[in-house]
Amino acid sequence: MNLTRILPFARELLAKAVPENGVAIDATAGNGHDSLFLAKCVGEHGFVYSFDIQKQAIESTKKRLISENALTPVSLIHDGHENLLTYLKTEHMGQVDGAIFNLGYLPGSDKAIVTMAEKTITAIRHILTHLKSEGLLVLVIYSGHEEGQEEREVLVPYVRQLPQETYHVLEYRFTNQRNNPPFIIAIEKR
Ligand code: SAM
Repeated sequence: MNLTRILPFARELLAKAVPENGVAIDATAGNGHDSLFLAKCVGEHGFVYSFDIQKQAIESTKKRLISENALTPVSLIHDGHENLLTYLKTEHMGQVDGAIFNLGYLPGSDKAIVTMAEKTITAIRHILTHLKSEGLLVLVIYSGHEEGQEEREVLVPYVRQLPQETYHVLEYRFTNQRNNPPFIIAIEKR
């Protein structure tokens, strides 16, 4: 297939936005794949905030980062992404290059623990405030489960009404696939 699939496309976008020595946010650490990717983008002198409400996810992310010798730039935060402002360092205010939300539940874990639209939107608002010009926020939306459908129903209208004078908003999805496949929303600050 020549069309870029969903997860590689999310990475492609982030790689463009997050430079060496940059500042990035993994809003949903899970098993740490995105935190590792962002840590490699920013290098040891950059900074990555990595959030998860599950202790197990934080531990699993830490393990992955250590095994790849990439723990140095990452701050692992066992708290909800909606509380970002409690953790954002003064020198990073208005300086965030990129952020990713991989929404839904952690594969292989408790499917009852899912991201929730209201908290996701609170976190998006905070991140948008602190994104740099040309900084990028990427959402990977999974709506195969019930809460995921509710989250999609709230998030899509929210991002579509963001003012075009301030943000470019992109939706990237395969429209003829069965069973609500994941899709991407990317928001670039102008
Ligand atoms: N990006 C991850 C990876 O590479 O493995 C997968 C993330 S998984 C789909 C979603 C994660 O979001 C779960 O680990 C869940 O605990 C976490 N989560 C749910 N609500 C959250 C919140 N309010 N703040 C931070 N993380 C949250």
